[in-house]
Amino acid sequence: MDLTLNETQKLVQQTARDFSARVIAPAASDIDKHERFPEDLLKGLADLGLLAVNVPEALGGSGAGVVSYALAMQEVASACASTAVTMAVTNMVGEVIAKFGTDAQKALHCPKLASFEYKAGSFALSEPDAGSDPGGMATTARDDGDTWVLDGAKQWITSGAHAGVFVVWARTGPRETHPGTRGVSCFLVEGGAKGLKIGRAEDKLGIRGSNTVALEFDACRVPKSALLGQLHGGFKIAMMALDGGRIGISSQAIGIARAALAASVAYAKERKQFGKPIGDFQAIQWKLADMKVGIDAAHLLCMRAAYLKENDKLFSREASMSKVFASETAVRVTNEAIQIHGGYGYTREFAVERHMRDARVTTIYEGTSEVQRIVIARSLLS
Ligand SMILES: Cc1cc2nc3c(=O)[nH]c(=O)nc-3n(C[C@H](O)[C@H](O)[C@H](O)COP(=O)(O)OP(=O)(O)OC[C@H]3O[C@@H](n4cnc5c(N)ncnc54)[C@H](O)[C@@H]3O)c2cc1C
Repeated sequence: MDLTLNETQKLVQQTARDFSARVIAPAASDIDKHERFPEDLLKGLADLGLLAVNVPEALGGSGAGVVSYALAMQEVASACASTAVTMAVTNMVGEVIAKFGTDAQKALHCPKLASFEYKAGSFALSEPDAGSDPGGMATTARDDGDTWVLDGAKQWITSGAHAGVFVVWARTGPRETHPGTRGVSCFLVEGGAKGLKIGRAEDKLGIRGSNTVALEFDACRVPKSALLGQLHGGFKIAMMALDGGRIGISSQAIGIARAALAASVAYAKERKQFGKPIGDFQAIQWKLADMKVGIDAAHLLCMRAAYLKENDKLFSREASMSKVFASETAVRVTNEAIQIHGGYGYTREFAVERHMRDARVTTIYEGTSEVQRIVIARSLLS
């Protein structure tokens, strides 16, 4: 793996860094406080090509690759984790359609996702009773002549109240003949489709500017052409999308942790106790050093997974390793950042409090830490 960034990767990183520092970071506290879906920032990201970084240029994307995407995500997440996760899911939906869609599906949806004509894309896999185990899903799609009819409920759907298109998984084969994930297919459902109801937004600990809703499909009819990929082939699409998505969440976690470390270093230089900066105390120095080691190790794991994916190599285990390590590092680093800030860190005056709340979800979504360890251990034992 060559760790030197090519010109495209450097350009994407620098572009994301500039926009994040100049426009996103100043808005982040307000987005969190008012649970504001960051439309203006997403439009800005679209204008910079960052809502479809790894989608081919012919489909309106940037065609800049997976490493560029990971680098851009880190930059945006270091400024605002809510904006970053919204960006991540839209990128993921664009990539899934670009990879598995028919020419007509790609032409219809990808340019709209990239350009912000759709305010977001949503990925609707989880259900109230099927999270880590998608094989337990109960949503069905019934073949009814020219249409599919979807019935059921989805839970925790990021950007669901704003999405122009949803990638939705539903059972097309009866459990008796198609047990577990075998009878699951994937569909593209447009925002505003009749029979699709959007539930109220969740009141969350962190990433409060990211919209998270339940969905209800009540005899929601979609055309036959809405099937994405093969009939009963939906689980494979979900797993491939999540493998890639885990690189995005690793990057989000790294970005959050980087912001917490930067704030901690600045505070350690400035805050004085016992007549000297707290950064002079070895207890604080060791915390900072451990934070930096964790963040850089997470970054290297993330770059490896991104590099493998970009070069069409197997990357599932590496994406899980990156995700579990980066997310747990972000939780630890942001917690330490609060400790370094003392009582001030426990208040909304200082961003480290937001970073800690934002980091917490990264060990949960797109597969919990426990699920990542299952993926890693299975690949070792198989
Ligand atoms: C803010 C937010 C946004 C989200 N966005 C989306 C989205 O856009 N689209 C979407 O489809 N989903 C989304 N999710 C759902 C997310 O992916 C799930 O929450 C996650 O997969 C875990 O599922 P669960 O919450 O049902 O927990 P459960 O699966 O019920 O797990 C509960 C606990 O049991 C553990 N556990 C479960 N099975 C095992 C096992 N076999 N071995 C060991 N431990 C196990 C888990 O690790 C966890 O600790 C989002 C969630 C959140 C919180």
